[in-house]
Amino acid sequence: MLLAKERKGNNYFVFNASLEAHEMKDITLETKLYDALRLEQLALHYQPKIDIATGKLIGMEALLRWHDEELGFIPPDRFIPFAEETGLIIPIGEWVLQRACLDVKGWNDLFDLNLRVAVNFSPIQLALPNIIEMIQNVLHSTNVDPSFVEIEITEMSMVDFNDQLMEKLAIIREMGITISIDDFGTGYSSLSYLKNLPVDTLKIDRAFIMEIGTSETNTNLVGAIIHLAHAMNLSVVAEGVEREEEWAYLKSCGCEQAQGYYFSRPLSPDLFFQYVLTQP
Ligand code: C2E
Ligand code: MG
Ligand code: MG
Ligand code: MG
Repeated sequence: MLLAKERKGNNYFVFNASLEAHEMKDITLETKLYDALRLEQLALHYQPKIDIATGKLIGMEALLRWHDEELGFIPPDRFIPFAEETGLIIPIGEWVLQRACLDVKGWNDLFDLNLRVAVNFSPIQLALPNIIEMIQNVLHSTNVDPSFVEIEITEMSMVDFNDQLMEKLAIIREMGITISIDDFGTGYSSLSYLKNLPVDTLKIDRAFIMEIGTSETNTNLVGAIIHLAHAMNLSVVAEGVEREEEWAYLKSCGCEQAQGYYFSRPLSPDLFFQYVLTQP
């Protein structure tokens, strides 16, 4: 499989690329990533999501991890764009959804909980004509309750927003899956268009959360985003909460959920299991 992506304007074109010398390094990486997927060397870590009003664990975000014997730990910010360029994000994304559904079902059944797992989706996946079918198949084969599944789409990826995408999101939502806009504030969405999106939740990007307390304007801006989201009947998740001050301010604004190092880093499945055990 040798695919490449060319970005023209806001459209993605997938085509068979010809082999050029400077691409050799990328091909090694592509082979390695493909092998990692095939040999089950990719892993999901889970970062707890906390209900701000009660302080209780209510779910987690699945974050992909890749450790290669030679290259070491490769962060997702590096290999996800690469996986998107090569088309590998398609089988990888399906594996991620499948793994996350199996894990959340396992933990919910075992501990009698209602945790919801959030899975990051690439715009490349959403553009696939058979994406709905893929999701249905995974829900079916894992036998997970769709209300325990959430899909995160970055605000940036909504730049290519069109009627087809809107229709797909609406169908996914009708299945009972929650939809969130990730990294909110870093893209260019206009209010009027946000209002019409079939989504449930806004995740405020860490860039805004870390500014809480640095100035009155910065602090108020976060409050304004929360009020704005609520005015559109969206719930709010704060990303990358690291300090007590951030937590207190978010709570005072009625922000529903938070995740960040203040509570927990992303955890391996074993450690997440331990974490759940320690919950009151
Ligand atoms: P994201 O979806 O916005 O995920 C949040 C990122 O913030 C994660 O980085 C997480 O580890 C980090 N984080 C959480 N709390 C804190 C905090 O308090 N402080 C700081 N400094 N960082 C915090 P990570 O795991 O490196 O993932 C980076 C990005 O890679 C994700 O951003 C997401 O866009 C992408 N990604 C990860 N897994 C997947 C996946 O399975 N599929 C796709 N398509 N993208 C993924
Ligand atoms: Mg995310
Ligand atoms: Mg984010
Ligand atoms: Mg991000």
